[in-house]
Amino acid sequence: MTETTTSSGGRPSLPMQGVPQPSRDKVLNLPRVHISSHPVMAHKLTALRDKNTQPPEFYRLVKEIGALLAYEATATLALETVPIETPMGPMIGERLAGGIGVTPILRAGLGLAEGFREVIPDAQIWHLGLRRDEQTLEAMEYYNQLPHRVDLQVCYAVDPMLATGGSAIDAINVLKRRAIPRLCYVGIIAAPYGLLKLSQTHPEIEIYIAALDESLNDVGYILPGLGDAGDRQFGTF
Ligand code: URA
Repeated sequence: MTETTTSSGGRPSLPMQGVPQPSRDKVLNLPRVHISSHPVMAHKLTALRDKNTQPPEFYRLVKEIGALLAYEATATLALETVPIETPMGPMIGERLAGGIGVTPILRAGLGLAEGFREVIPDAQIWHLGLRRDEQTLEAMEYYNQLPHRVDLQVCYAVDPMLATGGSAIDAINVLKRRAIPRLCYVGIIAAPYGLLKLSQTHPEIEIYIAALDESLNDVGYILPGLGDAGDRQFGTF
């Protein structure tokens, strides 16, 4: 793990050094937070965390975990009835009431969004580029492909690592400017610090994660975590 430096190039800047962090127990039972307890998820997560897992396998696992998370996060979506004919006769069927949006936070969210598409192929994908400032850890928007006309029942902001919460909070702020009835955040691993921040800043959104880890290190990486989710998906070490 490399230390970041100040803009003057001098003293190392450690943005989380000395910052108090809540314990895992403190955030375990936050309202609207769903932590997967599925054994297949736990199995895939272990392979994902393993430092020997190489980028092609890592990306495939992110996608598969994305599909499992999509399945859990869509369990309460609204349905509407629709009359259809089966080969045997008429019946009243059900279909999703309103569109589904998925907003991958670039670039690490791309694999998760692919997993969502396996479960909901006609989901709209709204790309959002947020980069975090290495000194302040604040999120900065650099790319936004959100449509102007919106007809969704829900939009999922997806990003594998909920670390300090900066990007997640910012992404939800961006999505709140669109008239979407329901917003959710979906991630793979959360740190207690970022989870609490996101949940306190946007208390009405549902948060779905695969695991809750222990803490952040001095530069804002999750421990034990899995390292850099973007680099590990795309092989950019
Ligand atoms: N982003 C990552 O990719 N990993 C972390 O541990 C924290 C933020």
